[in-house]
Amino acid sequence: MTETHEFINQVKDALREKRHQLHRIAEISGQEAKTANLISKWIKACNPSNIYTGVGGYGIIATFDSGKPGNIVVLRAELDALPIPESIEIEHASENPNVSHKCGHDGHMIHLIGVAEFLKHHPLKTGKVILLFQPAEETGMGAENMLNSDLFTIDSTAKFYALHNLPGFPFGSIILRNEAFASASAGISFKFHGKTAHAAQPETGISPEKAILTLMQTAESLRQKFKNDQGVVITLIHIKLGEKAFGTSPGEGEIHFTIRATKNEVLRLIRDTFLKNAAELANSLGLEYDFNETEVFKATVNNNDLVEQVESAAQSIGLDMITVEKPFRWSEDFGLFTEKFDGVLFGIGAGVNFPALHNYEYDYPDDLISTGVQLFLEILKENDCIN
Ligand SMILES: [Zn+2]
Ligand SMILES: [Zn+2]
Repeated sequence: MTETHEFINQVKDALREKRHQLHRIAEISGQEAKTANLISKWIKACNPSNIYTGVGGYGIIATFDSGKPGNIVVLRAELDALPIPESIEIEHASENPNVSHKCGHDGHMIHLIGVAEFLKHHPLKTGKVILLFQPAEETGMGAENMLNSDLFTIDSTAKFYALHNLPGFPFGSIILRNEAFASASAGISFKFHGKTAHAAQPETGISPEKAILTLMQTAESLRQKFKNDQGVVITLIHIKLGEKAFGTSPGEGEIHFTIRATKNEVLRLIRDTFLKNAAELANSLGLEYDFNETEVFKATVNNNDLVEQVESAAQSIGLDMITVEKPFRWSEDFGLFTEKFDGVLFGIGAGVNFPALHNYEYDYPDDLISTGVQLFLEILKENDCIN
């Protein structure tokens, strides 16, 4: 048995209990105060060389430094849960009403806690290992806020690694892809302001009707234009026009879309087409308008050398590997890190018939904790940080 193997066997029950503790105090994006407190308490107990808390919200950056030159390895996990009530009967159910960990971020945090506990007893050989806990992943705000913080001083040569558990794939398998792994996406909306009128004399007002209708047509023509690009998804989310009052021609209207693409450039082009059409419509119809963009995620683009490293780490502990042909349609704000640093995001199978992420029935599978910790430790070995 290897040293890491032995270590994991010793700590796995305690890690499971810690995962349950995090699950009970689940907090939504941007409000991860208790979670961050608990994480920093556990990390501090592992004697890092340095720890910053409150990085871009409740973000935490803990550094273990060998004091010797070498690779700078960043392992990233997310702090936030979702505004979804816990409706399943589990002993460690969330105690926060209408909030629960339905994306498995509690499990992801525990992988890093496991690594920290290993480093407490096995000091680094060379380089640095940085454990990065980011807030607000689900809203796409956390990575950006951390990057913009004065406390974010990670060297540009650092290599970023993150995993996400993936239901629908065999338990414990590793899901990889060169280059694009997860899609870029954004929520965009237009709010048009015209002038109400008597329904008998609509011509005396300015109704946003035509603007809304034309943007629906814009969506359709963009779908046609990109029909051979399976990564492009344009979803009409919401429309509002006027009030339920038969005497009044509407003066206000709004339309919301979620747009996705596997390339950042394509996403920008789609967004800009909507923007240009909306501006032209407003101008020709005499409407004012507001444009709003929320939950903007960059595509997560993997560095192929790091993909190879993860592959070799997974192989050395005998995990099955699955290479996916197409990037995933969902988005991850880890894409902001891979935009600025070499990085890799990979999946770890949660089981073929396991409930999907964000489903009511979902709860991170505890048996995956050991695999996650061991894989990250193997990645540290690949980087010559530990033996
Ligand atoms: Zn999620
Ligand atoms: Zn997630």
